[in-house]
Amino acid sequence: MSILIEKVEYTYSGGAGSTPALAGIDLVIEDGEFVAVIGPTGSGKSTLVQHLNGLLRPDRGRVVVDGVDLADRHTNLKAVRQKVGLVFQYPEHQLFEETVLEDVAFGPRNLGMPPDVVSERVARALLTVGLDPAEIGPRSPFALSGGQMRRVALAGVLAMEPRILVLDEPAAGLDPRGRRDILGHIQRLRAERGITVILVSHNMEEVARLASRLVVLNAGRVVLEGPTREVFGQSDLLCRIGLGVPSITRLAAELRRRNLNVPADVVTVEEAASEILKLWSSRSGQARAHA
Ligand code: ADP
Ligand code: MG
Repeated sequence: MSILIEKVEYTYSGGAGSTPALAGIDLVIEDGEFVAVIGPTGSGKSTLVQHLNGLLRPDRGRVVVDGVDLADRHTNLKAVRQKVGLVFQYPEHQLFEETVLEDVAFGPRNLGMPPDVVSERVARALLTVGLDPAEIGPRSPFALSGGQMRRVALAGVLAMEPRILVLDEPAAGLDPRGRRDILGHIQRLRAERGITVILVSHNMEEVARLASRLVVLNAGRVVLEGPTREVFGQSDLLCRIGLGVPSITRLAAELRRRNLNVPADVVTVEEAASEILKLWSSRSGQARAHA
């Protein structure tokens, strides 16, 4: 279930001036990939991901999901939204029912599933995101904490059992534990179900750990794209547009400057630790040999 984005342009009507939010995006996302979309605020990340399930339609160009052109008048967008689940940047925009159970049930019910299947899916989705259906189910989604709201919004999308999961800054505004939890759920889902994940994030440590490919947006264009390591190798370009690299990548660069033989493409703490230990043991080996 691949996604093809071809020469996509989009300008909001009524916005300030007529600067395009997307100024010609070309991108292919393959089945089963974990891709992260990064870029400064206002670079078009949210606008781009809303094109992936037909919520926004391009002014020019096209978006093709699993061989289906979303702009085609005959395309059934309901079927597309079952395949491509989108969790919004602000989950409270996505919650609208009186209880959590009703909210999570909305999608599968809307697909015309029988009530027993719906309740089974609702319970499973809530458990997947670490919420107890009996405890949290009867409550109003609006009375929950920010982290719980996000999880309910994610459960509502998961209840549709999409093959492609698109998450727009799902961990933004959460405390470190909340971030770890929600990203852990996503990682587990991907491992268990082999779904495609597209994650918008501004946390470089997070994307280094999770994504195998990065797409960097700036001013509505893809300015850099490739395997995570290669993209973080371009720290000058990233800094120029106001992004950074993981701090561990900076540390590795500093160690190299001091003539320590640490690889230049270290992007996670675990990798760095193992490289430094390797170096350490070879040095202490040398020291013993000289003694
Ligand atoms: P990001 O998610 O990377 O922060 P967005 O896709 O939200 O960026 O925004 C891209 C551009 O489109 C920005 O210039 C932003 O101000 C503008 N924009 C976003 N949403 C709207 C909207 N609803 N109406 C008008 N302009 C918008
Ligand atoms: Mg955004």
